[in-house]
Amino acid sequence: MSLDGVYDENNIFAKIVRGELPCARVFENPHVLAFMDVFPQSRGHTLVVSKQSRARNLLDVEPEDLAYLIQGVQRVTHAVNAALTPDGIVVTQFNGSTAGQTVFHLHFHIIPRWEGVALGRHGGGQMADMDELAHLAHQIAAQIS
Ligand code: AMP
Repeated sequence: MSLDGVYDENNIFAKIVRGELPCARVFENPHVLAFMDVFPQSRGHTLVVSKQSRARNLLDVEPEDLAYLIQGVQRVTHAVNAALTPDGIVVTQFNGSTAGQTVFHLHFHIIPRWEGVALGRHGGGQMADMDELAHLAHQIAAQIS
């Protein structure tokens, strides 16, 4: 999908936000929802999505919704750091399919990195074990301040 287009009310993340699909939830407030990526690029790969905005990408979003979202990203990144003590953390966000975006509901990726551990492929690879994801979500959630 190009950068321009119509928001699909039935995209996967919209369904997760509405509670129609399950997720390994880490954090939620009226503005944002954070949950584990089911195709993680590293252990602890977490997504933060806007709950109110119908933006597909960074170009569409209202500044106020973006402000809530990035504050949520920082808060969850602190929690990932406290829970998993990685050596580094990558925060990414993709706009348009050519750039690698696969779900067209604005979201940020929080991807912990460890020395010597290769980064998994974006948008591919093995589906995570759901029990392990639930455990990670619990560990990270416990560190939300
Ligand atoms: P992007 O390619 O930037 O749009 O990111 C979408 C991300 O959503 C990818 O990293 C996928 O692994 C992830 N993903 C797809 N479906 C689900 C799902 N049902 N629950 C959690 N993560 C998902």
